[in-house]
Amino acid sequence: MNKQLLIVGNWKMHLTVHQSSLLVHRLQQHIKTHRDIEVVLAPSMLVLQPISVELDKRRFKLCAQDAYFKDEGGYTGEVSFAMLGDLVQYAIIGHSSRRLFFGETLDTVRDKVQASIRNDIMPIICVGETQQERDAHETRQVLHDQVTTALMNVTSKDIEKIVIAYEPLWAISAFNKNVTAKPEDAQKAISFIRQQVSELYGDRAAKHMRILYGGSVNEHDARSYLELPEVDGVLVGAASLNYLQFTGIVDAAHQIQTERKS
Ligand code: PEP
Repeated sequence: MNKQLLIVGNWKMHLTVHQSSLLVHRLQQHIKTHRDIEVVLAPSMLVLQPISVELDKRRFKLCAQDAYFKDEGGYTGEVSFAMLGDLVQYAIIGHSSRRLFFGETLDTVRDKVQASIRNDIMPIICVGETQQERDAHETRQVLHDQVTTALMNVTSKDIEKIVIAYEPLWAISAFNKNVTAKPEDAQKAISFIRQQVSELYGDRAAKHMRILYGGSVNEHDARSYLELPEVDGVLVGAASLNYLQFTGIVDAAHQIQTERKS
């Protein structure tokens, strides 16, 4: 099965509207259309609307970095998935920044996954262990708990819309500069996640699910993750803010797809 590779750029809390517009302009100049690759941009909430007008929607999709699980109400400062429905195709849910800095719990992630599906937005659920959990050999337990809770109320029909990103916290630039996971670590964890999905929804669903790797991926090492048989794409943070680096990652994905076809 030759799935589309999914390349997601998480701009985090970077770039003003103007800077974002410049980056989009550059990306549109440099990234070609590849039918076997889906390129998704996750700018700040403020930027989604202005960027949506400039974006070539045949080449790029938009993604929210988070949203609140209630559709509407007196929740000052929040934006709901319902409000984002017309703007984005994807939403990152349970990013480690949210879990660590904003106290997001397993249950909150589960509720956000439901809200996302309810509003026709495809969730990209982030899971991954901390350095401490890794040292204590708790990676599997953490992944098991995060995956099973996030998918708790997801039906067999809706499982097709779910993307999971394995992002070990110890390899994310915000927590640990210059540390990356070895491809075999990424492969092992992603294989374990797929096994969890298979136990819950069967082999077919598990095979079809797109599972990404994220953690300081750049244009030089993207290939080493993307060529792993179980990795269906990458979630890119810091390197997605630089059009040359991000383009390099998309090019690496295209090269792999071309080689797979030949
Ligand atoms: C992220 O925060 O989702 C991420 C993958 O960041 P970075 O690539 O900067 O480690």
